[in-house]
Amino acid sequence: MAQAVKSLWPDAKLGFGPSIEDGFYYDFDKEDPFEPADLDLIEERMRDIIKKNYKFEKKEMKKTEAVKLFKKMKEKYKLELIERIPEDVVTIYKDGDFVDLCRGPHITSTGEIKAFKLLSIAGAYWHGIETNPMLQRIYGTAFETQKELDNYLTMLEEAKKRDHRVLGKQLELFSLNEEVGPGLVLYHPKGARLRSIIEDYIKKEHLKRGYELVLGPHIMKSDIWIESGHYDYYKENMYMFKIEGQEYAIKPMNCPGHILVYRSKTRSYRELPLRYFELGTVYRNEKSGVLHGLLRVRGFTQDDAHIFCLREQVEDEIIKVINFVIDTLNVFGFEDFSVEVSTRPEKSIGNDKDWEAAERALIQALKRKYLNYTINEGDGAFYGPKIDIKLKDALKREWQCATIQCDFALPERFNLKYIGADGKEYRPIMLHRVILGSLERFMGALIEHFAGAFPLWLAPVQCIIIPISEKALAYARKIETALLEKGMRVSLDARNERLQKKIRDAEIEKIPYMIIIGEKEAAGDVLSIRSKAQGDMGIMTLEEFTQMVEKEIKEKVR
Ligand code: ZN
Repeated sequence: MAQAVKSLWPDAKLGFGPSIEDGFYYDFDKEDPFEPADLDLIEERMRDIIKKNYKFEKKEMKKTEAVKLFKKMKEKYKLELIERIPEDVVTIYKDGDFVDLCRGPHITSTGEIKAFKLLSIAGAYWHGIETNPMLQRIYGTAFETQKELDNYLTMLEEAKKRDHRVLGKQLELFSLNEEVGPGLVLYHPKGARLRSIIEDYIKKEHLKRGYELVLGPHIMKSDIWIESGHYDYYKENMYMFKIEGQEYAIKPMNCPGHILVYRSKTRSYRELPLRYFELGTVYRNEKSGVLHGLLRVRGFTQDDAHIFCLREQVEDEIIKVINFVIDTLNVFGFEDFSVEVSTRPEKSIGNDKDWEAAERALIQALKRKYLNYTINEGDGAFYGPKIDIKLKDALKREWQCATIQCDFALPERFNLKYIGADGKEYRPIMLHRVILGSLERFMGALIEHFAGAFPLWLAPVQCIIIPISEKALAYARKIETALLEKGMRVSLDARNERLQKKIRDAEIEKIPYMIIIGEKEAAGDVLSIRSKAQGDMGIMTLEEFTQMVEKEIKEKVR
């Protein structure tokens, strides 16, 4: 692609051009912006290059030589990259008349590319830094066969239809509003309802599994964040302000609150493990460039808990959390997930021995559950290693949800203790963990997984009553009241519209059940039922209908 762009626009400068999970991109510095039609032009030139079947030749070069070469080519970004390479020798790749600085590896020749497609154009700051020049990024993808490419493009089309930002607006679930500020979510009635269903479920599950509810304030004095280490390690992400000369921060994490509850009295080993749970809303100053729908926001709520336990309880507690995660994902309709273990990062607190013990405990728990995992070297939190669980949605895309972090550091910083069986003081171990993760992100995943057509137990509106005429309205209202009293989420379409139009609108709203009421139904004290999943279900009494849906809700049928 870069070769094609350079041959079409010789003055365009090359930036980064890596391969990424589902394809590749390249950043260009070009005076005029790329137009969508340019992608066709570039693709055509790419096809020529593929047809020519140029060999990719790798060449190692002294840095000084490479500098000369790229100076001649006027590739200023490449020159900067060469300067950043610590080794004395760099590698370049050549194919046809095109030369590029590249670590490799490459395929043997351009003819090996069997199917490709350029997908989109986006702006991207050089090195991702906002004060640097804005380059133009072209995304593309390539596969070994046309069939694989076609499948991928179909998946992208499907993903576009399921985009939670689009569905969120269409189904009136939430909005992100410039007046409010970037990355701050406004829940509309249906979105707030969906969220509260999720919250109620997850809260109940925590209580069932031996967690205790706690609640902390949204702001706390800076001294606490100094004690926790956030002030030194996380300050750039925190919102700070002063009241009467005292500095405060809006909480970016819930841990210190829970720690202070633990520390409020002397603890005995008999009390442990203690599991504190909070639907904790936090605020983090994410860069505006990375904000994305509900997935990356500045204010979000975690189903957050901290487990204080003995060293010998750690592994069992981790297994309990893993079981909790798997059960929860199943209930919400996610069948598959992947697991990653992240180890000690450079910027971190605590000693080597504790880090190793923590990493061992996490991995041992995964082994006992026979779960496959990958290791992310150096990607742990600054206070401990972690397990990340990513759910896979209906399109097999991964979404970060649960995290389990082992922490030997914060109990030390806050001087947490318990009295052991021998009457001596010991340090408890602390686990940080979320099951759904951020409720915002989880809702984004749910919306896309179900393409907005939620199962009955989650649907913000479970059934809509559609009277055919003015004359059926009184009976329709009676049914509405009866269903509301049974705790169903019902709406009534009393508009003066044609039946077909009302049915169409209910379908667009993806409401699981329609109850159609005409004079005939009113006279016979029955309902005509249309289900989203099964179509026309015929006539039922109110009793029959409620029994059917109550069973479906109770069993959380997907
Ligand atoms: Zn925490």
